[in-house]
Amino acid sequence: MEYEAVIGLETHVQLKTKSKMWCGCANEFGAPPNTNVCPVCLGMPGVLPVANDEGLRLTVLTGYLLHCTIPRFAKFDRKNYFYPDAPKNYQVTQYDKPSTANGYLDFEFNGGMSRVRITRAHLEEDVGKNFHFDRNSGVDFNRAGVPLLEIVSEPDITSPDMAYAYLNALKDVLVYGGVSDCDMEKGMVRCDVNISVRPKGQKELGAKIEIKNMNSFSGARKALEYEIPRQIEVLTKGGKLSQETRRWDDVANITETMRSKEQAHDYRYFPEPDLMPFEPTEAWLEEVSKRVVELPLARKQRFMVDYELPAPDAETFVNDVPLGDYFEKAVASAKNRKAIANWVINNLRAKITETQIPLAEVKVKPNDIPELVALVDNGKISSKIAQDVFAEMFTSGDSPAQIVEKKGLAQVSDTGAIEKLCDEAIAANPKSVEDYKAGKVAALNSLKGQVMKLSKGKANPALVGEILEKKLKA
Ligand SMILES: [Zn+2]
Repeated sequence: MEYEAVIGLETHVQLKTKSKMWCGCANEFGAPPNTNVCPVCLGMPGVLPVANDEGLRLTVLTGYLLHCTIPRFAKFDRKNYFYPDAPKNYQVTQYDKPSTANGYLDFEFNGGMSRVRITRAHLEEDVGKNFHFDRNSGVDFNRAGVPLLEIVSEPDITSPDMAYAYLNALKDVLVYGGVSDCDMEKGMVRCDVNISVRPKGQKELGAKIEIKNMNSFSGARKALEYEIPRQIEVLTKGGKLSQETRRWDDVANITETMRSKEQAHDYRYFPEPDLMPFEPTEAWLEEVSKRVVELPLARKQRFMVDYELPAPDAETFVNDVPLGDYFEKAVASAKNRKAIANWVINNLRAKITETQIPLAEVKVKPNDIPELVALVDNGKISSKIAQDVFAEMFTSGDSPAQIVEKKGLAQVSDTGAIEKLCDEAIAANPKSVEDYKAGKVAALNSLKGQVMKLSKGKANPALVGEILEKKLKA
């Protein structure tokens, strides 16, 4: 029997706010343990939370970026459980009335486009972090109360590779949208995977198994690559799968049972009495919607269509937004778009890497690039000289025309001058001349090289070839 996998993902993302969600403590990674804490995020008795407006804005902004509807009424709930990393013994989250619902994410996968529906993206708070030492354990509450978005997908994902592509696309959207830095190293993104298998063609879903708390996308993919065949094997051997939570062991590369799956009622959800329901006004929503930016996929497609760039070039400008914006300014009124893209990607970017000068401080102005390209295209300078001109543009900030003028770099297309240089080269290289006359065509290139050298690279190479040939055949 053939089986198919049904996968849904719950992705937790820390929002990029300056302070925590319900108090004024800094939302910052790497501070000494328990220094970004206060009575509110430590769950002391008698304190009251105050919602961070930017946290709410970033939640709704995410909803817009993921094409969700934004309900005009949302509320907060307490998810009750006892664990050392939860100082309040509950986590504030949104249970039945989330701030965003029913969206989708489109992304490139397997050479085509895929869509995964988004069930909801709701706001909750992060918890502390446990540390285990040789003889004892400790908890760092710096992370407790940091705004956390849980983005829940529909079970539209069918393979580990598709899950991986979805996660990367989601991350791109969130980073692009300014919602989260999504720094995996700093634990800003974690995901839970829901996975079941069923015989191909069967409607109802198999037993849902959840793999918790993976902190890398490749880990999620590996866990799925392990878990799908495991489940299929159990079923093939006549066994039964039951709903449970498993843990991914990324050293042994296996999943193992953590606990049989708890039900929602185990958490005794109830409305958070200390926080007002969230009812955004139209004016507030309008303000948030203004922060919606062009998404990476749309940008890539636009660069490919509007500027006729190949996919890898477009991707470069998607991954480096300031460089892409620079290119757009450079290309605005120019004809040879591909050449401009090449200068920006190959030369400008290389210089920036080499010198570590940030793009914002680079002296080459965007409209200098089309000017340089035009000098080459019009035969004013050779492409080799153009490299030197560019290097000079980068150091001095002068325009290409100024540099060519000042340094006398204009290509020599004056036949008389080139003829003189050709005569010189012929006179100085009797061996090459002999070789050429004996039928060794390559000897012409050697002579051509000599002429170019004599002209300091300024002679028009096509003209040099023509004149040399004429003289040698004479
Ligand atoms: Zn605090």
